[in-house]
Amino acid sequence: MRETVTLTGIVLIASPIKEYDRRIELLTKERGKISAFAQGARKAGSALSACTIPFTFGEFTFYQGRDSYVLRSGTIRKFFSVIAEDYDNTCYASYFVEMAKHFTEENMEAPDELLLLYITLVAIQNGDMPLRLIRIVYEMRSMMLQGQMVELFECLKCGKTGVLDVYFSSGGVICEDCAAKLPELRGVYPFELSSDAMYTLQFILTTPLEKLYSFLVSDEVLIELERFMKAYLGRFLPYKFQSLDFINENK
Ligand SMILES: [Zn+2]
Repeated sequence: MRETVTLTGIVLIASPIKEYDRRIELLTKERGKISAFAQGARKAGSALSACTIPFTFGEFTFYQGRDSYVLRSGTIRKFFSVIAEDYDNTCYASYFVEMAKHFTEENMEAPDELLLLYITLVAIQNGDMPLRLIRIVYEMRSMMLQGQMVELFECLKCGKTGVLDVYFSSGGVICEDCAAKLPELRGVYPFELSSDAMYTLQFILTTPLEKLYSFLVSDEVLIELERFMKAYLGRFLPYKFQSLDFINENK
């Protein structure tokens, strides 16, 4: 008997291999990012067919080889059919998956990353929040999990807390008083965040996961948040995600 292991995870990517097989990559709670072969998964009637579709969440049992996994069986806990059926949903979900892949390692447990991705897919499936806002939340919380957070709760210069009228600098925020004393900051730190945008960012950082995807913002604030995230990720995450090319930024 070959040794087996059962892991909880989400199928990130599935690609065809040989005539009937699939190679899948998963994000798992216990072992982070892994890849596995699913033999015969593309054959009609294969028990592995349904559980090797991207964005499927469940428990997966593998035979463990020396340097690879072979899928033996899977139990689907949630299948995100609404995501697979809609082009824009799929594009956004693919981007979130690519980001999760980028941030996780092999053989390093990733319970927080998995949970964040899972509730994000649920939010897409529910359709209550615009995809653009879901993206902001996911990017922000992913960066937080990476420990790559800018200071959003106190002024970088004077330490005053609870600041809402702020300038965004490369490392955090500057309160209005400090900004007034240092007029050159306007040139160096180009962002002036409205109090609504600032409040939203703080909310995203401090809200428990189960309530994370339960709010809406005005179009103006959404545009402001997008400008903020572009600048922030441009500085702290200088990586080109291929799936971004497919995202329709008006959705
Ligand atoms: Zn200050």
